[in-house]
Amino acid sequence: MTRDEARARDAADPLRGYRDRFALPEGVIYLDGNSLGPLPSDTAPALADMAGRQWGERLIRSWNEGWIDAPQRIGGKIAALIGAEPDEVIVADSTSVNLFKLLVAALRHDPARRTIVSETGNFPTDLHIAEGAVGCVAGARLNAVARGALSGAIDGDTAVVLLTHVHYKTAERFDMASWTAAAHAAGALTLWDLSHSVGAVPVDLNAAGADLAVGCGYKYLNGGPGAPAFLFVARRLQERLASPLSGWMGHAAPFDFTDAYQPASGMKRWLAGTPSMLGMAGLEAGVDLWRDVDQQAVAKKSAALFDQFAAIGARLNLECVSPADPERRGSHISFRHPQAYALCQALIARGVIGDFRDPDIVRFGLTPLYLGFEDVWRAGAILGDILASGAHHDPAFAQRNAVT
Ligand SMILES: *Cc1c(COP(=O)(O)O)cnc(C)c1O
Repeated sequence: MTRDEARARDAADPLRGYRDRFALPEGVIYLDGNSLGPLPSDTAPALADMAGRQWGERLIRSWNEGWIDAPQRIGGKIAALIGAEPDEVIVADSTSVNLFKLLVAALRHDPARRTIVSETGNFPTDLHIAEGAVGCVAGARLNAVARGALSGAIDGDTAVVLLTHVHYKTAERFDMASWTAAAHAAGALTLWDLSHSVGAVPVDLNAAGADLAVGCGYKYLNGGPGAPAFLFVARRLQERLASPLSGWMGHAAPFDFTDAYQPASGMKRWLAGTPSMLGMAGLEAGVDLWRDVDQQAVAKKSAALFDQFAAIGARLNLECVSPADPERRGSHISFRHPQAYALCQALIARGVIGDFRDPDIVRFGLTPLYLGFEDVWRAGAILGDILASGAHHDPAFAQRNAVT
């Protein structure tokens, strides 16, 4: 694609208006919205209102003026993006903590089933949390196997199959409906991690028959660094599963101040402690931006941006590790490169922000709301320039930061 062709694609893009709803800095091509979504223009005023008016002026009265319902209200808005009913999703804690709550609940749900099945190479926290969860339930164990061995690992002892819908490195996407059906055929529940899916690819939990899901607020939802996360429990399971973190905000009547724990009905039982309202304000602004977005247009543009980037990669002899079929991938593209870290740093020095995933992956998030075809064209030109000049061999770019 030439620069002029890229410009023409941008001019005809039905999503082009969304670029102005983000406060992106000049001179940056942001290809890391799959790791930390950028700042939406409405977010800073929303945070100022939260701090100045809701907290500063209204003080504790704000709990009854919209705060206490925020986890369910924002959960209902996220539900619309993932094929769930509004009363099947709640915002709480972090993705890691939500994984823990649901995994332990799934293990306790059927004492005859003791195994969590997951994939080796899954996002680290998913496996770490699963390790912690099995440690909390007598006789439970984690069986993490390679993707090719997954279907053989799901059996009559499987309590829950924990899968990340879109893989954080390669962008490979599981077919949610068929894997859910396979788990159900063995009598197991599914727990989908949607961190790299929500806001990136069409998700329809109920059409797939999914049981449980978690997802991240600060990636494609643009909720801000460390934004609260969400969890989904299919309605049919809601009264049968209980959170192991039985905190007072998940109690049926927290302000009765009783000694004994009685879980709330519905999704409220997945709350543990008092929600962070500063975090909720950022998340809600990010989620509200998605309200009128055409998800099919997002999927279509994501696929087109991918094809454009894949062609650039092929021209530069980079090894693409992401699937060619748009139905089988998420919204990022990853390349394997022996100097992946240094290459990523050299790109950042030129204003092209992607990221590195150990040991040899350079990853670029393709976020249709604020990224255009000309941006990808420019990123490709800079990438080609760096590879041709060897600029990434500068020893300064080999210095590892704490966050990669
Ligand atoms: C980003 C991500 C998380 C994040 O977990 P936190 O608790 O927010 O740190 C979890 N799982 C997957 C698959 C992710 O991509």
